Amino acid sequence: MHGLTRPTLQGNTRREFLHTVTMAGAVAGLGGLGALAQPSSPPSRDKALIAITLDLEMARNFPRWEDSHWDYEKGNLNEEAKRYSLEAARRVKAHGGVIHFFAVGQVFEQENVDWLMQLNAEGHPIGNHTYDHVYVLATKPEDIQYRFKRAPWLIEGKTPAQVIRENVQFCTDAMRTRLGFSPSGFRTPGGFADGLHGRPDVQQMLLDCGFKWVSCKYPAHLYGNPGESATREVLDNIVKAQTASQPFVYPTGLIDIPMSPISDIGAFRNARWKLDDFLRAIRLGV
Ligand SMILES: [Zn+2]
Repeated sequence: MHGLTRPTLQGNTRREFLHTVTMAGAVAGLGGLGALAQPSSPPSRDKALIAITLDLEMARNFPRWEDSHWDYEKGNLNEEAKRYSLEAARRVKAHGGVIHFFAVGQVFEQENVDWLMQLNAEGHPIGNHTYDHVYVLATKPEDIQYRFKRAPWLIEGKTPAQVIRENVQFCTDAMRTRLGFSPSGFRTPGGFADGLHGRPDVQQMLLDCGFKWVSCKYPAHLYGNPGESATREVLDNIVKAQTASQPFVYPTGLIDIPMSPISDIGAFRNARWKLDDFLRAIRLGV
């Protein structure tokens, strides 16, 4: 991470956009730590090569494998998760970079949001990750989010498209109300191998909600057998997938800055790797 400069992700021209590489972070039960990296033109010294991203959310299977209650309160961050985020931000900043965070809107219901103000004051951008961590491609009510499966009355009478749009907007409204500023970009809960291709309706909805760029695509790659350490084949495949992780523009004009593999959830939950393998994959990817 040496030599990082501040990533420039908001309101920039396309050439300044970086693409996403995924980094560590499931320790506190966070999901979706990643990074944004590498301009297409030759890098100048004042432009970031790597921008680390971290989705501020709780994740099932952490800290104990049998934990699943976080599915219902993704944005109700516990003390460990908040401490982890602040410490991660501190370390990255000490090396000259920033973390681009994406917040699940429910966190803005918590009594104290000073730590988010602090992150912002220290130069770490915060984006929108929906209010309840909803699946933006859902076409059936039961696929939107666990919370609404258990409490369907919360979304009764609305179409999935309405619920999803409202959920994106709620996160923005909550952030503006509690923090006093608007989100910096949008990341879909979950990554999609095809991004938002084939879903111009979702692209348009995000544009309508004020987003010029989103981070939706997560390219397909091998994981190997769960619990086994990373093989050469898997690592080579992850390196190869970096090519599919480059920024691009949809026909609607929406920009996607993909997350580059491997994500923390992919490494620790899906592949059940140890930290060394994760770090190896990230180094190779970078
Ligand atoms: Zn997420």
